[in-house]
Amino acid sequence: MSDTAAVAEAEALVADATGGTDGTGEGGPKFTLELNQDQKDIREWVHGFAEGVVRPAAEEWDEREETPWPVIQEAAKIGLYSFEALGQFWADETGLTLPIANEELFWGDAGIGMAIMGTSLAVAAIFGQGTPEQMGEWIPQCFGSADDPKVAAFCSSEPDAGSDVSAIRTTARYDEATDEWVLNGQKAWATNGGIANVHVVIASVDRELGSRGHAAFVIPPGTAGCEQGAKVKKHGLRASHTADVHLDDCRVPGACLLGGKEKLDERLARVREGKKAKSQAAMQTFEASRPTVGAQALGIARAAYEYALEYAKERRQFGKAIVENQAIAFTLADMKLEIDAARLLVWRAAWMGRNGHKFENAEGSMSKLKAGEVAVWATERAIQILGGNGYTREFPVERMHRDAKIYTIFEGTSEIQRLVISRAISGVHIK
Ligand SMILES: Cc1cc2nc3c(=O)[nH]c(=O)nc-3n(C[C@H](O)[C@H](O)[C@H](O)COP(=O)(O)OP(=O)(O)OC[C@H]3O[C@@H](n4cnc5c(N)ncnc54)[C@H](O)[C@@H]3O)c2cc1C
Repeated sequence: MSDTAAVAEAEALVADATGGTDGTGEGGPKFTLELNQDQKDIREWVHGFAEGVVRPAAEEWDEREETPWPVIQEAAKIGLYSFEALGQFWADETGLTLPIANEELFWGDAGIGMAIMGTSLAVAAIFGQGTPEQMGEWIPQCFGSADDPKVAAFCSSEPDAGSDVSAIRTTARYDEATDEWVLNGQKAWATNGGIANVHVVIASVDRELGSRGHAAFVIPPGTAGCEQGAKVKKHGLRASHTADVHLDDCRVPGACLLGGKEKLDERLARVREGKKAKSQAAMQTFEASRPTVGAQALGIARAAYEYALEYAKERRQFGKAIVENQAIAFTLADMKLEIDAARLLVWRAAWMGRNGHKFENAEGSMSKLKAGEVAVWATERAIQILGGNGYTREFPVERMHRDAKIYTIFEGTSEIQRLVISRAISGVHIK
């Protein structure tokens, strides 16, 4: 075969496989890991904000252990902190824009990142379980306006119900006379708890049904009986506010039950008849948000890796740059490898979630588990590469390590993720 004929044949084969030499064919684009222009633009935009605004403020707000309202306001002013931006990230049919934006923001700083993104867990609950009217009413109120930004809180955990969501004791009782729900209980470790404009609270409407008797409620701004309890002092993520929330005869209108009463009654009836019901209120929110949370952990890991790489090229000992030692260079190679591997898991889960593919093998859990553990490991390695400097607060990797640790704990601990994965792959109810 002549060269020209061989090339023509190869081109025909490629065209067959891809549906055209431009890489697209009927039924949409074929598999690609190349980001499109919108994704690249958003990545650059968020990166610019993370580099120019978030990073310079990181140390200050970590030390102050306060919500960085001026930074949230800056994010609101450029439209990054807004339901429109979140909607735009979500609209990407590949599912990748949301993790990309989170990775970049948390690359800037995780404490401030969480102060900005903490709201999105409550938004995810309203979006996932609310009616269109409820979404329209409450999601904008989670963010407030650029001049007067607000935050939102998602309150599931309780002092005796962390990993074991079914142990939730907060109750919601329906008062038919007034068409109100009356909530009583105590929520623990709520991000933005007590300072939020909108709280989404998971409560039990029928304790006998365990987690299948849970429902999600919106607590509107300024509702009597919803108060902040103790603010938690933390190891990391210190620019993000975490607190207990007390609900004492907290009355909310009937319309604050996400999804509405009819849907709840139908679901409860199915459960009482012993039929299968859809997954529980809190679990639905966690499942959807796991790849995004994994992307946040990735941002921290990447920031620590990049810092350590530059440092290793600059720092000289024994007459040469420390990166020239295999021990350091191989560690950096492993850091890059693990971070990229974790990103692929995050992107896969994000794509699956966005395109309605069921997580048959708990792919959402896999992504969060891997990214969280990589973040803890990579930030610890970064401290090692920086030596004494790494251990001080003069250098950022110490803060990154403190920030990373929460990613093996919240939104399902690493052990719980392994439980979910092992149950999914085995079909056995592993305990
Ligand atoms: C900074 C921060 C922010 C948070 N934000 C929120 C929020 O916004 N909203 C919210 O609702 N919650 C929030 N949480 C709570 C968080 O989700 C819980 O801390 C987490 O789910 C773990 O629960 P726990 O702390 O009660 O640990 P526990 O459930 O008591 O677990 C303790 C240990 O036992 C292990 N363990 C438990 N059960 C098993 C098992 N069956 N098999 C093997 N090991 C097991 C766990 O993995 C863990 O290592 C936040 C927590 C923190 C620290």
